[in-house]
Amino acid sequence: MSPRGFCAGVTRSINVVKDVLDLFGAPVYIKHAIVHNNTVIRDLEKRGAIIVDEVKDIPRGAVAVFSAHGSPPEHFEQAKKRGIKVIDATCPLVTKVHFEMISALKKGWQPVYIGHKGHVEAVGVLGEALVYGVNVPVVSSVDDVGKLKLDLDDGQVIMVLVQTTFNVEKVKKVIKALRDKFENVVEPPEKDICYATTNRQSAIKKLAQEVDLVLVVGSKESSNSNRLVEVAKGEGVPAYLIENLDDIDEKWLKGIDAVGLSAGASAPETVVREIVDYFTDKGIAKRNLIDKEEQMFFSEPLELKKMKKAREDALMEKIEINFNKGKLEGMTEKFLVDFIVNLLRLLIKDGKIKIYKKIVLSVAVVEKEDIKKMNKKYRKSDSVTDVLSFCYENQDDLLEGEIILCDSVIRKNAREDGVSFESEFLKNIVHSVLHIIGYEHGEEMFALQELLLKKLDAN
Ligand code: SF4
Repeated sequence: MSPRGFCAGVTRSINVVKDVLDLFGAPVYIKHAIVHNNTVIRDLEKRGAIIVDEVKDIPRGAVAVFSAHGSPPEHFEQAKKRGIKVIDATCPLVTKVHFEMISALKKGWQPVYIGHKGHVEAVGVLGEALVYGVNVPVVSSVDDVGKLKLDLDDGQVIMVLVQTTFNVEKVKKVIKALRDKFENVVEPPEKDICYATTNRQSAIKKLAQEVDLVLVVGSKESSNSNRLVEVAKGEGVPAYLIENLDDIDEKWLKGIDAVGLSAGASAPETVVREIVDYFTDKGIAKRNLIDKEEQMFFSEPLELKKMKKAREDALMEKIEINFNKGKLEGMTEKFLVDFIVNLLRLLIKDGKIKIYKKIVLSVAVVEKEDIKKMNKKYRKSDSVTDVLSFCYENQDDLLEGEIILCDSVIRKNAREDGVSFESEFLKNIVHSVLHIIGYEHGEEMFALQELLLKKLDAN
């Protein structure tokens, strides 16, 4: 069933942790599981992430990522006092609710929060109100609204805020109950329940109408996964939350003709695939029920962007120095991968033409055949080493036209090899960099080239 699985907020937060690990190295502390999914968490732990529940569990001066669920202002204060470098991976759709809370309080409105008491997201949003000395009531059912007592001023507006992963249908009922009981009940113009929750709940509702059993991949702690089970059950079919294949109880499948499979916003696609394979291996036919295509993407946090830029600048400075010396000295394998990744980013983003010239020219003239296609300056020599040296020595005189010529050589090679320009370009850059640092054609060079290409692919 689609949409299912990772939402834009979860994808972003996982990428943030990976980037921070790449920038600062292990360990990186994550305050609260970055997403509620054990498979994802175990993978990040293997890379050097350490999950903690409280800011006090993060060593002083360490680097920490605050999870996608959001954090109260108090946690940022505590981190500051402990000298912790924080990268906030709060999903922008959760941040929106934080801002709505602050805005309501500034206007003197009475906020009421529809959500699950004690859920990390709720703790973060309600923490904003604590700064203003306000305790915001939390309701999660029509019954809760019945018991709700508010000490309102005359005409005071009640602002309803909602946990992003709450049950869409339940929210409608709770808001109706609030409107029936109180006057002046308003909601933010943009609904708080996020697009991923809305889409997944709508899709699973339709799925449940077509099958005899629904399985939802997700962790027990995942609010949005639990809500999917709730919605499916609401359609009158048995539904179970499973973390992975091992959780499937064969008893559930007895007398079942069609099984519906979905996944919470933090469930990895690999687990979903495993389960699909489990059923298809039994000879069961599969069909993907598509309710909606999702195109949502969130850009990375600003502070992370700045940190990356600072590192790229430092790296580029080092590269420039080493290039000017004619070779890259003391280079480790990690540095080499970083170098190529950053080089590509810079080539694309900033158009650092000087570096481009050096790399592309040195690549394009490596093959004797290609040399003939270059202008007469290069035809003076037919040795790779000579041509490379010539390019370095004359780098400032090289013309834009010559770069285009190099591009065309790469394009021709790509066509002949039946690969994309990008992969041919990347292969040539890696090849060229290895030449620059002193490798000659041979087993060792090609093995290292393969290794670097694999690592670059993983980036
Ligand atoms: S479920 Fe919604 S609010 Fe939560 S991380 Fe995903 S997109 Fe953001």
